[in-house]
Amino acid sequence: MRIAAGLIFAGAVSLLASSTAWSQTPPAKGAAAPAAPQAAPAAAPAPAPTQPARAACNNPNALGVARTVEIDTAGGPGFGFEHFKDLDFLRDKEIVLTFDDGPWPVNTPSVLKTLAEECTTGIFFPIGKHATYYPEILRQVYAAGHTIGSHTWSHAALVNKKLSEQQRKDEIELGFSAVKWALAGPSPAPFFRFPALQHPPEMVTYLGTRNIAIFSCDLDSFDFKASKPQTVIDTVMRKVDKLGKGIILMHDFQKHTAEALPELLKKLKAGGYKVVAMRAKSPVQTIPQYDEDLHKQAKLPTVSSRPVSSVVQTISE
Ligand SMILES: [Zn+2]
Repeated sequence: MRIAAGLIFAGAVSLLASSTAWSQTPPAKGAAAPAAPQAAPAAAPAPAPTQPARAACNNPNALGVARTVEIDTAGGPGFGFEHFKDLDFLRDKEIVLTFDDGPWPVNTPSVLKTLAEECTTGIFFPIGKHATYYPEILRQVYAAGHTIGSHTWSHAALVNKKLSEQQRKDEIELGFSAVKWALAGPSPAPFFRFPALQHPPEMVTYLGTRNIAIFSCDLDSFDFKASKPQTVIDTVMRKVDKLGKGIILMHDFQKHTAEALPELLKKLKAGGYKVVAMRAKSPVQTIPQYDEDLHKQAKLPTVSSRPVSSVVQTISE
């Protein structure tokens, strides 16, 4: 856990660094089959992919999606009143659901199932490394019509003074390239969330030059601290009832969040809250060098992981 406090200033936006944390967990190891991608994205030229729409809704009592907004990310706008107070676009009772630190087995698919049952949507901020561990899960997020941004390559705290400016940029750029690689074609939205909501001013400026929007939040569920699902529900409902609207920060990485979500979404519906979908006007432009570097990362499989029997067959002897 990391708590940082301090005032930093970037452009015309004043920022108060606050707390959120992520407990790092290594990927599944051992005999369990590697959740590896089958291969690098096909090199064949293809038209710009169009993301599938959300499935038709068969639940008349679903939370649903009340409004979809398109975000022009030119200049790197900031969202979420915990740090950025310029863009007050949500109406009374409107909420945005956001999910960080995935994709992750079990929990992310569970979140997707709940969102589908409630015919609603959110923004996912995956960690680049996790996207390379479980690209097929991230593709499920995309296929379900949700918005996908990025949350750095390794969840490094970009305020860490030990990191050079170049290393901070690498964390940002490699994260986006990893998400793009995992999606095997489509680029994510130019939506970025800093680990632990810690915003080094020079990286805020950098994202502006990259036309990437920054997402803080209006209310933090602190689900990573919750000892049980009910705590997540109680925290979110208490905070949203106080604020009346807002961008909600949760983690699809967290088991308790996945377990809390069905009840939480029902409570939000009963409370009169309406979900807003946030789309990017255009996808992020990844930097080709990082797309290439990604393939050199040691953890990325560079060869097929198919069993030998499907690769080598005796045809005569
Ligand atoms: Zn995180």
